Amino acid sequence: MSKIILVTGGTGLVGQAIQHVLNDPNGDNTFRKKSDEVWHFIGSKEADLRVKSDAEKLFDKYKPTHVLHLAAVVGGLFKNMAHNLTMLRDNVLINDNVLHVAHERNISKVVSCLSTCVFADEKDVPNIYPLTEEKVHLGPSHPSNFGYAAAKRLVDVQNHAYKQEFGHNFTSAIPTNIFGPHDNFDLEDSHVIPGLIHKCYLAEKNRTVFRPSGSGKPLRQFIYSRDLAKLFIWMIREYNDVEPLILSVPEKEEVSIQYVVEGVVEALQQQRAAAGGPPAAADGQYRKPASNLKLAKLLKESGIAFEFEPFKKALQETVNWFVENYEKGARVGKTAA
Ligand code: NAP
Ligand code: GDP
Repeated sequence: MSKIILVTGGTGLVGQAIQHVLNDPNGDNTFRKKSDEVWHFIGSKEADLRVKSDAEKLFDKYKPTHVLHLAAVVGGLFKNMAHNLTMLRDNVLINDNVLHVAHERNISKVVSCLSTCVFADEKDVPNIYPLTEEKVHLGPSHPSNFGYAAAKRLVDVQNHAYKQEFGHNFTSAIPTNIFGPHDNFDLEDSHVIPGLIHKCYLAEKNRTVFRPSGSGKPLRQFIYSRDLAKLFIWMIREYNDVEPLILSVPEKEEVSIQYVVEGVVEALQQQRAAAGGPPAAADGQYRKPASNLKLAKLLKESGIAFEFEPFKKALQETVNWFVENYEKGARVGKTAA
């Protein structure tokens, strides 16, 4: 029987990357679309998933057997700090509607998406690092994004409850910071990499100073959206445990924000854009180092020799995508061009 896979959030950064990987003629055959699969990629224009009747209509239209649930109200540190309530409410509504309609329509499998933002900080929970799957609910999440994090943690609670009460195969992934083509390059609401690319590009263009936010000292693990896409394709096909799975590069690939700033300047080949002194702005969580040992073990057991794209190469591809799209007048940010 064919699998019909509905991807909510299918128009966003990760959804677009999955579309690319499934259809890439030069890509690894393991991750290309299979003949018994039908994939549907859905954005908010087709259904506002905060509204249950929209979710019901969507499921009745596509009649999925599997759901990859990526839809979320997403943003970088500054959007989270300014909108904890919206990030909480909108995401709780979206997640509850998707999971409950999937239950009512007897969908065999749902993979949802959490984030390493859910984890506590070492200041609050000593020795919590490295972050592993069983620590999702340990201690308070970081105060900068407590709304978003609570909505995401709740998905794991819901998955366990649907399994306990109905035996459903609902599970979740926990990606680290993601970047790539089709990201939201908004100047205020975006994550650090798209924000820096846009700011650095404009500084050169307008002959102004490139000003990253914060101290540059915090550390992050970044995953390229096209690597993450492969892992999601593999999960929807093969991962059948309710417990979440961290999708991350190895811990040793943690880099500082300052390293990213320098990488962006280099990838854009900006001559003038040496970063100006940082304005007063928050740093967010200092580190959230996640272990990918469970993922590495499962990929090995599946016979997949997975290689992550080197960070600088992926950053260059992302910068190239931004410049090409910006220069042809495409909309590169959710709220500002
Ligand atoms: P994104 O680029 O902002 O895309 C969000 C997607 O969700 C879009 O397709 C959007 O549709 C859809 N969406 C938003 N509100 C919706 C609504 N009310 N009803 C229906 N659809 C709605 O996000 P992303 O970066 O691809 O994130 C994908 C998943 O990864 C999310 O669950 C996010 O929480 C998680 N995640 C992201 C990061 C990161 O660094 N980006 C890190 C960890 C985890 P439209 O575009 O059509 O509005
Ligand atoms: P986080 O990983 O959830 O904290 O989210 P971000 O992707 O927004 O990364 C935030 C980190 O990058 C903080 O240390 C910020 O101070 C730093 N940063 C530097 N410049 C920027 C920028 O232009 N936008 C964003 N969002 N963060 C920036």
